[in-house]
Amino acid sequence: MNKNLYSPLIFELSHKGRTGYALPEYGKGEIGLPASLMRAEEPKLPEVDEPTVVRHYTNSSNNNFGVDTGFYPLGSCTMKYNPKVNEAMVSRAGVSALHPAQPAATVQGALRIYRTLEKYLAEIGGMAEFTLNPFAGAHGEYTGLRIIRAYHMSRADEARRKVIVPDSAHGTNPASAAMAGFEIVEVKSLPDGTVDMDDLQSKLDETVAAMMMTNPNTAGMFEHNIPQIAEAVHAAGALMYYDGANLNPMLGIARPGDMGFDVMHINLHKTFSTPHGGGGPGAGPVGVRKGLEKFLPNPHVIEKADGTLDVEFGEDALGRVSAWLGNFTVYIKALAYILSLGADGIAKVGPLSTLNANYIMNSLKDLYLLPIPGPCKHEFVFDGLIDKSTGVTTLNIAKALLDYGFHAPTIYFPLLFHESLMIEPTETENLETLDKFVKVMRDIAETAVSEPEKIKNAPYTTPISHPDEDEAALNPIVKYADLQ
Ligand SMILES: *Cc1c(COP(=O)(O)O)cnc(C)c1O
Repeated sequence: MNKNLYSPLIFELSHKGRTGYALPEYGKGEIGLPASLMRAEEPKLPEVDEPTVVRHYTNSSNNNFGVDTGFYPLGSCTMKYNPKVNEAMVSRAGVSALHPAQPAATVQGALRIYRTLEKYLAEIGGMAEFTLNPFAGAHGEYTGLRIIRAYHMSRADEARRKVIVPDSAHGTNPASAAMAGFEIVEVKSLPDGTVDMDDLQSKLDETVAAMMMTNPNTAGMFEHNIPQIAEAVHAAGALMYYDGANLNPMLGIARPGDMGFDVMHINLHKTFSTPHGGGGPGAGPVGVRKGLEKFLPNPHVIEKADGTLDVEFGEDALGRVSAWLGNFTVYIKALAYILSLGADGIAKVGPLSTLNANYIMNSLKDLYLLPIPGPCKHEFVFDGLIDKSTGVTTLNIAKALLDYGFHAPTIYFPLLFHESLMIEPTETENLETLDKFVKVMRDIAETAVSEPEKIKNAPYTTPISHPDEDEAALNPIVKYADLQ
């Protein structure tokens, strides 16, 4: 452990009797709670003064890494810069002081924000209608799959219990399909990372409800067969689900609706610049093609004939998937992003994120193994170093990057390769940042040959260097009491 960076736990700073804030004294029982709900013992809370609390949290936050501290090339996660104008918009009293239970007549502006964003997403995705309600990408997948189930049930086509998922898919795809009650059937990828059409054909029958796809796929490759795939899936009576968590490369270039997809989700917290990490808050709006609108979850924001907006509960709709209308502040940030870029700016996101990824890929492919030759879309995957003789692994490279102030790329995903190192620079990084990253990656690759131990022992500057990751995942210590 690096002692200079180590911040003591707040419990270690505690001194009996020290307080930072005084609450009025209440005697036990005076607030009228039944005895069964009262504590028998005082809670074991740290006792610290206000400056200690402030310094503790400020110092802890300085040990954190975010897109505001440095380059964050996390493949599949789109860690683009989150413009500060978005934050300014959500801080305005007109939206920050609302209560979700207010009558619709008093929150017309908020409902207008909701409806406007739904319409923009429908336009961007090439879909007929959207709901913003789901809280995250995986939640959107789950909602979308339940819409697909509701569609098949409405036609009394009950045998459709399977969902086809490519072996390169994001882990949430099979997980969401299982959560929604489907059986998962995996379809193979060809060496170039695209779907194996023959394998797909052999798996399509009257028991398949849907095919889930990411396009470009997680290896950063565009599925050129997408019209044929959609045709085959539709011919078998199933629907096409688009995992648009990461819509970056498609913005301004192509729309899932035009590619033949019937249902899709978008992660506002990736593509539309709202911050994410640590599990939220996010939003995974779901879009559907014409004919499926009535299955979207309740409630809906609708426009009445007199031009006012209302919140409505449809009869054929799925039940609620979120409280109220979902994570409202996330919608405001996403709408601020769309409006500040405008149609012209949005149309540049796809080309620029693709250009940045290809720039890094081409600047490193003489040292890092590129299993699927480019050009790529917004991200690409290396299979570790070309020179495997040094024993330096993808994990070592990822850790070495931390000493240079970069966040590590996504590692060991997709599962298509043993040493996957998945890089996504996004469109918000300038040439100097990309060049600096390329230089550091080249230095690491060269040092891996001249002094492999130096890379294997990195990082040297972080509070913790090599935690036992299996132990941390299997037996996490999240309570101070368990530490002692
Ligand atoms: C991030 C991601 C998801 C899941 O989104 P969450 O908001 O984390 O649930 C699904 N699919 C792909 C391709 C992703 O990149």
